[in-house]
Amino acid sequence: MYLTVLIFLIIHWYLSLFCQSFFLHRYAAHRMFKMNSFFEKFFYILTFISQGPSFLNPSAYAEMHRRHHSYSDTEKDPHSPHFHNSLSSLMKKTYSEYMSLLDENFVFKKINHTPKWTFLDRLADSWFTRITWILIYTALYLHFSNLWLALICVPIHSLMGPIHGAIVNWCGHKYGYRNFDLGDKSKNTLFLDFLMMGELYQNNHHHHPQKLNFAIRWFEKDPVYMMAKIMEKLRVIKIKESQTC
Ligand SMILES: [Zn+2]
Ligand SMILES: [Zn+2]
Repeated sequence: MYLTVLIFLIIHWYLSLFCQSFFLHRYAAHRMFKMNSFFEKFFYILTFISQGPSFLNPSAYAEMHRRHHSYSDTEKDPHSPHFHNSLSSLMKKTYSEYMSLLDENFVFKKINHTPKWTFLDRLADSWFTRITWILIYTALYLHFSNLWLALICVPIHSLMGPIHGAIVNWCGHKYGYRNFDLGDKSKNTLFLDFLMMGELYQNNHHHHPQKLNFAIRWFEKDPVYMMAKIMEKLRVIKIKESQTC
């Protein structure tokens, strides 16, 4: 039973993280590669399923993330750890920035160059859907394990997206080393990146924001970049020639 729960947690963690890094970050926010409308819908649905109650609207994510790059570690940065005393304060600020970008129907207010699927955005972001996901997780735990594991694990599954975001935004701008002397406080948090699939090479990424491979030095490895190269070979995506790899 404990092994099954652990495997479920690990699969959910990495699938949700992959969608955040591959689809929301590198595709929606940075447009590092192209894909046809079938695969765009496929990854939209995969993001909805894997993020569940913590689904992030790709357009709003992209807008917020572009602000992070433009104003990194200044007061205008939507989630710099250098303006917060705690993780929860950083997460609250990120949440309010995110919600301010959506209208009352959870549709992105502005027009930007990102993938859009209004029907799924409204469905995924509604409180009805979010609560339904939480009830599904709870039912699965109560059926396959016990109440105590449900009380510990359901909040982790339910907040998977914000937990990933908090680790990247907090650690990636506070702990680690720098390869590039930039105007911000971005760091490469190598020792934790096994949990983050390349996302914690923040200093490398801020130096080359359009570079698909976040790893630079020989000992740095970026798993999502490697997966993107495989998907290019399988003709799922087309990596843009203009960006340096
Ligand atoms: Zn950053
Ligand atoms: Zn970025």
